Amino acid sequence: MTVEQKRVVATEIPGPRSVELHARKNAAVSAGVGTTLPIYVERAGGAIVVDVDGNQLIDFGSGIAVTSVGNAAPRVVERVREQVADFTHTCFMVTPYEEYVAVAELLNELTPGEHEKRSALFNSGAEAVENAVKVARSATGRSAVVAFDHAYHGRTNLTMALTAKNMPYKHHFGPFAGDVYRVPMAYPYRWPTGPDNCADEAFATFVEMTHAQVGEDNCAAVLIEPIQGEGGFVVPPPGFLPRVAEWCREHGIVFIADEIQTGFCRTGDWFACEAEGVVPDLITTAKGIAGGLPLAAVTGRADLMDAVHSGGLGGTYGGNPVACAAALGAIETMREEDLVGAARRIEAVMRPRLAALASRHPAIGDVRGRGAMLAVELVEAGTKNPDPNLTAAVSRACHAEGLITLTAGTFGNVLRFLPPLVIGADLLAEGLDILDAAFAASAAS
Ligand code: PMP
Repeated sequence: MTVEQKRVVATEIPGPRSVELHARKNAAVSAGVGTTLPIYVERAGGAIVVDVDGNQLIDFGSGIAVTSVGNAAPRVVERVREQVADFTHTCFMVTPYEEYVAVAELLNELTPGEHEKRSALFNSGAEAVENAVKVARSATGRSAVVAFDHAYHGRTNLTMALTAKNMPYKHHFGPFAGDVYRVPMAYPYRWPTGPDNCADEAFATFVEMTHAQVGEDNCAAVLIEPIQGEGGFVVPPPGFLPRVAEWCREHGIVFIADEIQTGFCRTGDWFACEAEGVVPDLITTAKGIAGGLPLAAVTGRADLMDAVHSGGLGGTYGGNPVACAAALGAIETMREEDLVGAARRIEAVMRPRLAALASRHPAIGDVRGRGAMLAVELVEAGTKNPDPNLTAAVSRACHAEGLITLTAGTFGNVLRFLPPLVIGADLLAEGLDILDAAFAASAAS
């Protein structure tokens, strides 16, 4: 690793060079493209991001759950270097190449279930979700899709329709794609009759609404994140996912797990569905798959994936050879360095620290997540009223000390933590110390 795994705060954050670049950004880039923390990046390696002012920040965001293998991971860099020198593009739909096939084989092997599978590759998570819906519709001859409250599936027209939250994702961007229906998510912390009733009642409501408002025979797919990402790391209670998957199977409805944020070791399993033995019909992946290069996939039952007519799936860049080479390097890293185990070890360190923080700060209403996908939900003390202002203040205080943190949640009141799975124990502990101090400072002011 060429970047020293050490935090350095050399200037105010953001520093003067970053401030200058940000002025250029504001003059050149659409105001619609926001930034969480406007430090301008010069280099990054492992769990450290180096900015143009010489600050070295600890990364608790991984570019939104992407660089799980670490930034510029050696095996990814090596494979990309080789591939980019060999050839950069031919279009798999014109003249194919082995790297695409090898990624598809690995996806078929690694995703849950021993059944025969096929994969197709795309560029972004949203594109994968769109294509999973296309496959489900084509294979079933039905059109309706059921999605959940707090869901996030992307920013294209169909995936905006599937995404729950208005601001900033949907506001002023309608009309949206039709035949999308929304049901309550099994969200234990906010379930009206309490967490103990959540699994049973949420399942019953899902069945009732899908039956009454959609009709099983009209329903092509049910789409769910096994742990919601942008929605605030909502973990459904045990039993909910398996029952939804089973019910879909009984009615010939395609159960699609969107593992774009949860996949590839992030939750302490290769895929989050494994925690409850759920085998999705189709699974969408992206983000962590290729160590930072744009790649996404739909993987699933061969009979569904092969139901689509030839030429019906694809795109100019889908499964670009350089992105595929990166994926081969990333997956090799996950296997060789046991990143499933690493995610579990991160949880073993972080969860007690977050629980201790919650015991000191009544503003932390809930600590949740799994593996290296953990979050705290912030509320006005003694209530469950969301506190997005405190959430933003704590996050800003972390940034100022050189820790990259992200927020999430329908109400903007969730601080989420997604460190690279290769983060060293020292940096992890230091990041948690900064978070501790940020809470102390923000809660006091
Ligand atoms: N689904 C989930 C669960 C996601 O977390 C995201 C990205 N945050 C997407 C879909 C969309 O992925 P992309 O931004 O690559 O289009």
